[in-house]
Amino acid sequence: MGLKVGVLGAGISGIGAALLAKSRGHEVWVSDGMEIKAERKTILEQHKIPFEEKGHQLERLVACDIIIKSPGIANTSEILQALTDAGKEIIGEIEWAYRNADGKIIGITGSNGKTTTTGLCHHFLQAAGMDAAKVGNVGEGFCHFLAEHNAAWYVCELSSFQLEDVETFRPRIGILLNITPDHLDRYEYSLDKYADAKMRMMRNMTEEDTLIYNAMDPVTVAKVIGAESEERLWSIRETDLIGDDKVYVKDDLVLDLSTSRLMGRHNQVNVIAAARAALLAGCPAESLQSSLESFVNESHRMELVGEHEGVRYINDSKATNVDAVYYALGAMKTPVIWIVGGQDKGNDYGPIMDLVKNKVKAIICLGLDNKKLIDAFSTEVYFLSETTTMREAVRRAASHASFGDTVLLSPACASFDLFRDYKDRGDQFKNEVNALSHV
Ligand code: ADP
Repeated sequence: MGLKVGVLGAGISGIGAALLAKSRGHEVWVSDGMEIKAERKTILEQHKIPFEEKGHQLERLVACDIIIKSPGIANTSEILQALTDAGKEIIGEIEWAYRNADGKIIGITGSNGKTTTTGLCHHFLQAAGMDAAKVGNVGEGFCHFLAEHNAAWYVCELSSFQLEDVETFRPRIGILLNITPDHLDRYEYSLDKYADAKMRMMRNMTEEDTLIYNAMDPVTVAKVIGAESEERLWSIRETDLIGDDKVYVKDDLVLDLSTSRLMGRHNQVNVIAAARAALLAGCPAESLQSSLESFVNESHRMELVGEHEGVRYINDSKATNVDAVYYALGAMKTPVIWIVGGQDKGNDYGPIMDLVKNKVKAIICLGLDNKKLIDAFSTEVYFLSETTTMREAVRRAASHASFGDTVLLSPACASFDLFRDYKDRGDQFKNEVNALSHV
């Protein structure tokens, strides 16, 4: 029998949850405390899904059998408190998708590397002709996909926000890439609480399932060992990384990244994780190397934009925390002109100090407030200057670069002080690099 489903929040995930509920024959009611975007209202109207905006009618939500909440709504919000007090079952979009999905799930989480690993794992399966879909914290989301399609395997990127609201969700294969400080403002500045949200991915996994985890990451190890049954663990270790660009996957299977578009130690870890998950899902080992070579990652992640007068330009705009920059600098084999800065998320630059001393010859700070960067690095490099436009940043970087150097945009910060988002920042970088040849 159909349920009465209340959807709280008409963002991307809320719309997906509503469409999925409707497609399964449930009665749906969407409620948003703010104004709903016009295009989303059109979707709801097209599907004959009733909604309210700029406020919630509590009685109408209390009359629902189940509430699906958007990850953006904090559990402490007034409406969620009232619904909890009324004894309602409240779940997140991923949990709702899981309850309505037939196929098996590969769940991928971590502070950094989720999108790359999800994309690669999906590419491995699809290139081998398997019926696989890429879902989760990408595109229109898992529920939206399920409203219209299904697949034998779902490769699912999972953020800590999404994992906060899972209950029975059970991936058959889990990947935990790393747990490093990020989004701590949401977790009372506690790395432990943030880590616990990530660990929720594993809460229903059984002996039949496998967790692939990064044994080189101390926070991950501390959380996994003891809490997880040994039989279902597959660790990624130092010895699995062969030189700078080869990795050991299993038995006699070694993959070579040097002929792929992926570079850096972090990507070695991502490749091992994605390849092992693909093998567990039944992907043939023989197909992995050629699939790795044909894989094109999403933009803004260590993306080689071009070469100008012998200088390489790399767009790593998605590096919005220090750990991502640690790996970006680690992957650099030439002197670096580093474009860094933006909205600080409580950064500690200690972990990258040695890398900056050894590899960076000039720093261009691209942010409204660069004090922390200046304090940390002004005595460590030959040249440091500030700007608030990408055009100036790229031109100044170009003027400091010599033949053979690399200009690296890897900001360690959020982009919202000067740009719409990290994509806008990366796109502006690409445009300015392309414009260099006309300067
Ligand atoms: P996420 O989806 O978790 O944000 P992405 O694949 O989009 O991860 O990468 C985000 C940033 O982190 C990029 O700058 C990328 O180069 C870097 N990165 C990718 N994989 C890893 C990893 N395993 N460890 C640390 N940093 C990584």
